[in-house]
Amino acid sequence: MQPLVGFPCEDGAGVFVCWRALLAVAAIPLLCTPFGCRSAPHRAPLKGADVVLVVIDTLRSDHLGLHGYALPTSPFLDRLASESAVFTDVVAPSSYTRESIAGLFSGQWPSCVGAVGWDASPRKASVTLAERLRASGYATTMLTLTTMLSDGGFARGFDRVEHLTSEWGVSRAGAALTRRALEVWNEPRGKPLFLYVHYLDPHGPYDPPPEKLARFAPASSVVLDLYRDIRPRLPELVAEGFGPEDPRFRELVRRYDAEIADTDAAVQQLTAGLRARPSQRPLLVVITADHGEEFLDHGFVEHAWTLYEESVRIPLLWWSPGYIPATRSSQPASLVDVAPTLLALLGLDSPRVLSEATGQALFQASNAGVTIANLGSRVRFAELAIAERNVARAVWFDGWKYVVARRWLDVDERARSSRIEEQLRQQGRVAPPPPAVVVREELFHLPSDPEEQRSLFASAPEVLPRLRAFLAEHERRCPLVQPLSERPVTLAPHESEALRQLGY
Ligand SMILES: [Zn+2]
Repeated sequence: MQPLVGFPCEDGAGVFVCWRALLAVAAIPLLCTPFGCRSAPHRAPLKGADVVLVVIDTLRSDHLGLHGYALPTSPFLDRLASESAVFTDVVAPSSYTRESIAGLFSGQWPSCVGAVGWDASPRKASVTLAERLRASGYATTMLTLTTMLSDGGFARGFDRVEHLTSEWGVSRAGAALTRRALEVWNEPRGKPLFLYVHYLDPHGPYDPPPEKLARFAPASSVVLDLYRDIRPRLPELVAEGFGPEDPRFRELVRRYDAEIADTDAAVQQLTAGLRARPSQRPLLVVITADHGEEFLDHGFVEHAWTLYEESVRIPLLWWSPGYIPATRSSQPASLVDVAPTLLALLGLDSPRVLSEATGQALFQASNAGVTIANLGSRVRFAELAIAERNVARAVWFDGWKYVVARRWLDVDERARSSRIEEQLRQQGRVAPPPPAVVVREELFHLPSDPEEQRSLFASAPEVLPRLRAFLAEHERRCPLVQPLSERPVTLAPHESEALRQLGY
């Protein structure tokens, strides 16, 4: 394959050296020999770089070719991965958009900035990524296709915020978002740009363009809508045979895959446009997702219901040929690492920001170039705090994953709740708080059970007290449940009755 951008780099003896990266750092003395030049130590290989942060909503990593998926969902991203630093073990801090993006923007676990529940946002973060970049001289623009990020907390630090649609769940709009992003990219400006681009597909409803759908073999002429036909009546559907062997189920997944393919093409156009504009500045493109999607892996569909791997395992690519090594890393990473990693690469890390961020920098830079940081056996968290759905926390450590739920609806209850929930949301009400008691605990050993089919909780291995201690400390520092005073609850009598029937 031809390289997308060809800068001279060497990869020898585990050390990645990019001469352009070294030469780009002003005022760095060069030591030249007949074999090349090396710079004195530096810590900001991408200082002053233009940064494009791409989030693809609802993209579970195992449906990408670069993570082993057999169908052609992502031919462009697969090629881009060969020129990128690809992290293969990445989890989102939540399976819900608002909580997860709050973690992305703040570099902290969502609850640590008060981002819990339907209306979560990073409004309580002391500083956000965009604020930090704008204060350092960046022009900052946010472009989205989701209606989930309208809270002012997400707009913090952005000179310009454009939600390109007011339609919830819009499909086929990726190309328009790319066009707008490139208009912004090509505007004259005298400062580096931080451009946040949030694609919505492959989020449901799955309604891909025909030419992308044609890439995948048809399974059924019966097309079920995720929200209208499946979610509210899933138990009845499953009882009549809906599942992995059912053509209607395979058609559903086919459409999800085709929406990934459509977004893959939109990101390809975006990247081509970014490359087309000559710039004196380095360019860094980061591509990731806010959460995954369930396809009956654990009995239900959609996302923001559980913290199983299909809901939180996401891709993370760092593409900056000449600056970031093309490599794959299995270091344990999280979406909350993106902000501190960006700041470190740009030379903008400050003690204040990094002491508050719970994410970690994924790279380290030295005169030897950029290398993957050794994160060792770190602790990672994910949390979901939607009172109308489930309230749970997960901790990953050393191959183990421990999940504690304080509210847990079974599949029947979720289907029923999704019907009531829509009524409540349309009327702008907030549900009562979740109970504080633990109602469910699960323990998985992911290396031997990656699909989380066998909870080892009952056998209580020696690791359990340690995992419990991690969660207890996390809960002490960052309570999952908002104080009562911050949760206005105003329910009409019929809503109270509906919730009472659900067990609230
Ligand atoms: Zn989302």
